[in-house]
Amino acid sequence: MLIVKPHDNNLKLRVISSVFIVFILMLSTTISSNNSQQIYLGSDPCDSISELQFNATKANQSVSWQTSLGYRLPGSDASAELRQSVTENLTEWSFTESSHQRANFTLTNLVGTYSPDNTTGQNVIFVAHYDSRYIADRDADESKRNQPILGANDGASGVAVLIELGRIIPSLQINHDVTLFFTDAEDQGQPYKANTWSYGADAWVSNLTNDYKANISAYIVIDMIGDIYLDFTRVTSTSDRLWETITPITAALGMIDGELDCNGNNGQDIYNPDPNDERGVIDDHVAAHNAGIPAINFIDINYGENAPSFGGHWHTQNDTADKVSSQSLNYIGSILELGLRTSAWNLVDDITNKENINNTESSNTNSDNSANSDYGYKKYISLLIVISVFGFSVFGLVVLIFGLITKQKEDLHSDKDSEQDESNSWWENQIKNNMN
Ligand SMILES: [Zn+2]
Repeated sequence: MLIVKPHDNNLKLRVISSVFIVFILMLSTTISSNNSQQIYLGSDPCDSISELQFNATKANQSVSWQTSLGYRLPGSDASAELRQSVTENLTEWSFTESSHQRANFTLTNLVGTYSPDNTTGQNVIFVAHYDSRYIADRDADESKRNQPILGANDGASGVAVLIELGRIIPSLQINHDVTLFFTDAEDQGQPYKANTWSYGADAWVSNLTNDYKANISAYIVIDMIGDIYLDFTRVTSTSDRLWETITPITAALGMIDGELDCNGNNGQDIYNPDPNDERGVIDDHVAAHNAGIPAINFIDINYGENAPSFGGHWHTQNDTADKVSSQSLNYIGSILELGLRTSAWNLVDDITNKENINNTESSNTNSDNSANSDYGYKKYISLLIVISVFGFSVFGLVVLIFGLITKQKEDLHSDKDSEQDESNSWWENQIKNNMN
């Protein structure tokens, strides 16, 4: 009887680790299935399209103003002036700045949040880089390649849309947080060195707490979206289900060829929803995507008429305000405004959704509160059910595994008689020999 003890210990260890692994696997399955119950459930964009307020003329003026500041290099006066203007003009937002030392400069991220009184706590984040590139390394003229660029499209266009959204969002009557994230040092990278780009976004995401990350329902980057010849597709490192929300909104705005807009007209060929038409892009969305945050990126990498991918005016001295069109800014600004107006980027619990709608319909007063408390109650019940099911499963598994082990033990004993176990310790062999 005693001789089996060492084996028994090993077996017990194996059983315990097996149960532990099964436990972890089941827990992660439970958590992921809990998440997958949450869905994006926006209302029909055509119901809200007549309410759009985005002012593309103002956005286009901002592009000219930003380039008039000069090169917005990390640590520059132009860069500081831009941040100051944003915080002074968007008075209903609360801003924080954070600085980080990278390469040979200090970058400064600017983050502003609008949080209404009735917020659910969910956070939709719009992101654009406000720095402009330090070299025109793609310029046809070699003598200009060491000079910085004005970044009208590559920098200013995205920032212009964010500022204009910041002006109108407080009047949209949304019930969740919105964050405007102006990233620094997206565009100070070296060619073919992937880890020298997006320093600002990387630094911010890596410092977020798990609680903050869990509340982010959408992280939407816009970059190079002012090209007169606007076109974009899905890019790599994208959240599938968040990207799926884009099709009905862009169709409503007349941006998909072959789809009717809200007026019944065929759309322009601006967005191609074919999932095979995906472009490889490293940008400010990658860090968020890698951190498990649902992230997407609107980016037009063919800058200029008939420009090839990463060609045309991209990273050249030609990236000036005259290449940016207010109509293109209007398309992107309208996508983001329409997404907010239709709650396209709020995650809703699939099970309780029906209940929430009933509550909202049946009472006009405090409908949000009753829906929210009901939501919390249901979540608690779901959790209890999950824990109970989980507990029973573990118990069943333990019984099953011990049954198997007992059988295995018997097999092992008969094996030990016929072959030498290399892992046996000295004293074990001694006892065994005595037995024999
Ligand atoms: Zn760039």
